[in-house]
Amino acid sequence: MAEKELIVQKFGGTSVVDYEHRARVAQIVQSAVQEGLRSVVVVSAPGRLGDAYATDTLLQLVENEGAKVPARETDLLLACGEIISAVVMAGHLRKEGVPARALTGPQAGIETDGRFGDAKILRVDPGPLSAVLDEGLVPVVAGFQGRTPQGEIATLGRGGSDTSAAAIGAALGADYVDIYTDVDGVKTADPRIVPEARTISALDYDELFQMAQAGAKVVHPRAVEVARQARVPLRVRSTVGDEAGTVIGGARLQDLWHARRPENTVVGVTDRSDIGEVIVATPKGSERTAIEAKIFQVLASHGISADMISVSPGRVAFIVAQTQLADAGRLVGGLGLPVETRDDVAKVAIIGSAIAGLPGVMATLMEGLLAAGVEILETSDSHSSIACLVPEGRRIDAVRTLHRQFHLS
Ligand code: ASP
Ligand code: MG
Repeated sequence: MAEKELIVQKFGGTSVVDYEHRARVAQIVQSAVQEGLRSVVVVSAPGRLGDAYATDTLLQLVENEGAKVPARETDLLLACGEIISAVVMAGHLRKEGVPARALTGPQAGIETDGRFGDAKILRVDPGPLSAVLDEGLVPVVAGFQGRTPQGEIATLGRGGSDTSAAAIGAALGADYVDIYTDVDGVKTADPRIVPEARTISALDYDELFQMAQAGAKVVHPRAVEVARQARVPLRVRSTVGDEAGTVIGGARLQDLWHARRPENTVVGVTDRSDIGEVIVATPKGSERTAIEAKIFQVLASHGISADMISVSPGRVAFIVAQTQLADAGRLVGGLGLPVETRDDVAKVAIIGSAIAGLPGVMATLMEGLLAAGVEILETSDSHSSIACLVPEGRRIDAVRTLHRQFHLS
């Protein structure tokens, strides 16, 4: 007999927040089991700030105390949110006649490094989950956490339950990792900005990675990377609706080459405002490169990552997370260089794997922004994206314009 298909079903915080939502989750898991699939469920902490046991609610608990809590203990606290979800969800499943067992991340064999608050999964031991599956039970795993080499509990960084699901899928050789969320898939743009934004039916890993990186909040970029490496297809779908959602890692590239034209190679437009720009005036003489190198060394030694980097004679510019903007300005200023920082900027990007090597994509983008009168402050590009830094006040116009310009509406 062929092995039963195995799927990982990950449910985000809003999907497990109350009885009604959990009943819907139970229905989804139950129908997978009834179809003859083996399912591993991964859950986030319930709800958002204000909901009991949500990650931000737990964080507030210690913040309100005013005492400094070490990262190790913050992780102990935060891990509880997901564990509570797992126990409650497993109970709900059993009540509906689906045999289930709740497990913490460590119990599920998730091994991480020792970096509290932002731990990386080093390995998932498939043993414990396989044993639970072999008993005919649905494992319900607390996402966002694992066991360090010292036997401590560490959390994976915000949004990390997606990564738990992808890593479990990779370790067990799952047929699919399904990310259930409160939207019905990956959208061509933020629907709050572009009401006519559509759900994208198929993406390749790189496109989803770029979109996640560039601000589309559906799936954590690390999860996409883990799935890509293991070649496990991801599906992003809605907990409430019945739509097929977005499939990532299917045979997308093949259809791409059919119609390679600048206007239809772009799959989505993303935007983010949580960044700031640093502009440094640099000398042009013989020591130029040494000074430029110093700028990036001082950032690196303070754990600041720079993006959209532009180095030209007399000028170095880059963007950093807005939370690090003041530090970056101070550090570069400390080198004795004239520096300007601005936080009234936004990064707007077009994404599409077929952009690479195709003439006319930038021209099409420029045409659109020119017509809309949006000033471009910087640009950067990769194989599968072109990003523009624009004034924050023009962000919404830029997204709407590009969505139209690349025929996504
Ligand atoms: N509960 C964690 C967070 O809010 C992890 C997750 O939901 O993926 O970031
Ligand atoms: Mg999430």
